Amino acid sequence: MRIIIFGPPGVGKGTQAKLLSATLSIFHISTGDMLREAVSEGSELGRRAKEIMDAGQLVSDDIMIGLIRGMLKSERTRKGFILDGFPRTIPQAEALTKLLDELGLRLDAVVSMEIGDEEVVRRLSSRRTCRACGKIYSLVGDSLKDPTKCPSCGGELYQRDDDKPETVRSRLKVYAVSTAPVKDYYKRLGMLRTVDASGSVDRINSAILALLR
Ligand code: AMP
Repeated sequence: MRIIIFGPPGVGKGTQAKLLSATLSIFHISTGDMLREAVSEGSELGRRAKEIMDAGQLVSDDIMIGLIRGMLKSERTRKGFILDGFPRTIPQAEALTKLLDELGLRLDAVVSMEIGDEEVVRRLSSRRTCRACGKIYSLVGDSLKDPTKCPSCGGELYQRDDDKPETVRSRLKVYAVSTAPVKDYYKRLGMLRTVDASGSVDRINSAILALLR
């Protein structure tokens, strides 16, 4: 299967993409994770991306399309993939359509996760990620005994720099202007499936699997 998971920052795309990747045995491509890895490795890309990400802005289309091109040509995505965080602009969506055509691949679905702005801000400000295993938690929903320690592996839980309130506001603006039109792009192609993303992780996961079946 080849799926795009779409929605505003903080809607839970990463959490659902990880679950779907395991259930459907398909590769999880998170462009945000790829950039954060580049930042922690201190590569040239990471140095360029860090400032942009910390400001809540988008890394250039050329760079992102180059990253995805490499990924879709690699052996790892041969059995299928779930794209999380890409495409985020119309030029990225158009480049993806072209790239899939070139590779003779077809998208199965674009799943749009939908919630209100207020809920987005609430979720982002309470999101914590494990530095060791990458699991994502909510300070509100997950009743953690120790908000600094991963209950699964004991690793350190941290708040992403771009989840701080000032950056969240910029990210929501960028989403409304540059990313929301991508939804209409897939709607016009007849590929868009929407899911109410305001419930529990399990309920949303079942709803997405039902859509895909
Ligand atoms: P995410 O983890 O998907 O929320 O991405 C974190 C940040 O990485 C975003 O706020 C952007 O600065 C950058 N980023 C991730 N994916 C893309 C993309 N497809 N295009 C441009 N910037 C991106």
